[in-house]
Amino acid sequence: MTLTNPDQLLAQAEKICLQRNVRLTPQRLEVLRLMTQQPGAISAYDLLDLLRVREPQAKPPTVYRALDFLLEQGFIHRVESANSYVLCHHFEEPSHTSALFICDRCGLVTEKTTDGIEERLAKLALDSGFELRHSVVEAHGLCGECKVVEQCDSHEDCEHDHTIVTKKR
Ligand SMILES: [Zn+2]
Ligand SMILES: [Zn+2]
Ligand SMILES: [Zn+2]
Repeated sequence: MTLTNPDQLLAQAEKICLQRNVRLTPQRLEVLRLMTQQPGAISAYDLLDLLRVREPQAKPPTVYRALDFLLEQGFIHRVESANSYVLCHHFEEPSHTSALFICDRCGLVTEKTTDGIEERLAKLALDSGFELRHSVVEAHGLCGECKVVEQCDSHEDCEHDHTIVTKKR
């Protein structure tokens, strides 16, 4: 099940926390709420700026503690290669392998289900005697919209923003 409506996501997070008997404090909930407003990934510092709108006294540790909690509960994923965080849309599967498609031009992060990949990783781990606990697949490239912009060569008569430069990796 994939939830995209922020209210539904927050309600589900509250329900899951009750079931697990962990505390979704107002601060943690606010950080999660802010994350549901993001179209893609967001860095901890950008999140702090947003959090300060409602909680002016918030400090970096405030955000990091909230993020750690949300990571632990599987409500968000860390995008290691972009040093940012993204909302997970599969709350009810706390230990799933996530495949994150990261656009190097606009920063959009799309999470995809990983049927097949999960089994492959588990098999590879098993074969090498490795105890697999958690894995994240991060794939870099261009999202659909950015692909169109990159392929556009009529820079004078289009409405694209050609000033954004794609990060080379
Ligand atoms: Zn996920
Ligand atoms: Zn993009
Ligand atoms: Zn263009």
